[in-house]
Amino acid sequence: MHSFRYREGKLYCEDVDLARVAEEFGTPLYIYSAGTIFDHYTRLDAALASLDRLICYAVKANSNRAILKLFAEAGAGFDIVSGGELFRAIKAGADPQKCTFAGVGKARDEIEYALERGVYSFNVESEAELEYIGRIAAAKKSCAPIALRINPDVDPRTHEYIATGSHENKFGIALSDAVTVYEHAAQMRSIDIVGVQMHIGSQITETKPFIDAVNKVAPLVRDLKSKYGITFFSIGGGLGIVYESSLESGAKEWWSDAGSAKHQLSIKEYVDAILPALCDLNIRVLLEPGRLLVGNAGVLLTRVRYIKRSGHKKFAIVDAGMNDLIRPALYRSYHEIVPVEEKIERKRKTEKIDIVGPVCESGDFFALDREMPELREGDLLAIMSAGAYGFVMASNYNSRPLPAEALVRRDKVALIRKRQSWEDLVRGETE
Ligand SMILES: *Cc1c(COP(=O)(O)O)cnc(C)c1O
Repeated sequence: MHSFRYREGKLYCEDVDLARVAEEFGTPLYIYSAGTIFDHYTRLDAALASLDRLICYAVKANSNRAILKLFAEAGAGFDIVSGGELFRAIKAGADPQKCTFAGVGKARDEIEYALERGVYSFNVESEAELEYIGRIAAAKKSCAPIALRINPDVDPRTHEYIATGSHENKFGIALSDAVTVYEHAAQMRSIDIVGVQMHIGSQITETKPFIDAVNKVAPLVRDLKSKYGITFFSIGGGLGIVYESSLESGAKEWWSDAGSAKHQLSIKEYVDAILPALCDLNIRVLLEPGRLLVGNAGVLLTRVRYIKRSGHKKFAIVDAGMNDLIRPALYRSYHEIVPVEEKIERKRKTEKIDIVGPVCESGDFFALDREMPELREGDLLAIMSAGAYGFVMASNYNSRPLPAEALVRRDKVALIRKRQSWEDLVRGETE
């Protein structure tokens, strides 16, 4: 579900008119729906009610402190991939005992900080990292709780840049090496074996890769439970969301399968698929969803600056660029784009147009040859499903200030991140 819909020709987020918010805070502007985020979290949590579970929201998907605070208040844990993310999460009220620390290249200061704060587990991605964490913990006369990230070698059938669970990429320890590395860990005095972890990729839209991965790792989980008394099995994140026609299906329930042209993985389908094998294991299950929880809960508002014709092509040059939302440039990913104000007289007449940003790169586009209602200069557009891997990947490329972010709760809207100024751009630089 998400809470973006038209009311009398105007796009609303919950009970807030988005054109009004754009007037107030300017564009480009990210807007998130608190109700949608909470709804997604509680639905997933309720579907797993028969398990001892902890949903660790993957902070990297959207790390604004106001968003993290929503999750902390809902009782979620956090999956973090850097010291900076742990710092943010703690500032937002997270309990470090509910934080797992992932990532292939943890640095000394990050490991020390996580040890001092007492994270729930370090998810370790190599034997070299295991030894490094062991040495740091020993020097601090402390003991690091660890889980090994196991690479189950399944094909998640998603974009190659976001596939992580096959042997072809840098993530995790091969399943065939797991027992040996755990034996090594068991001999280290400053290491405490507490769990096992995996994560096979992102934007996965079918159940089979998840089922295959759980089944492949389940025998190891049993073995580790009896040998070392591990207390959790983290099955990672990776649940895909709908990027196409999200507005139409959002009015119904996008997670339901009814009448959907594109296949989409519903929460129920996902949970039904993995629950039997997990129940059998009789162990605490951790999940690390990012995109599923926040993706459809955010949009990027942008205004059309110029309409340009060139040969047979027509372009709408908007005020957001690839520096604000890089997903189309990086993964060629599709985002639905809709006018914030449906102009009835223009609605019937559609045309193909490229929607592009002002950045000096040919890759700076949001849509190519997209069938859109006739656009004019000054029109306000919403780039849908931009709540995950949107702002967090934004940069200052072309010396463009980072966009602002706002959070809607029913009929209230709050600025949760100020737009950067030109002064912000040069802060910290010296001549
Ligand atoms: C990125 C990541 C996630 C979250 O992935 P989503 O596709 O956003 O659910 C979870 N776990 C790990 C280890 C990750 O790197």
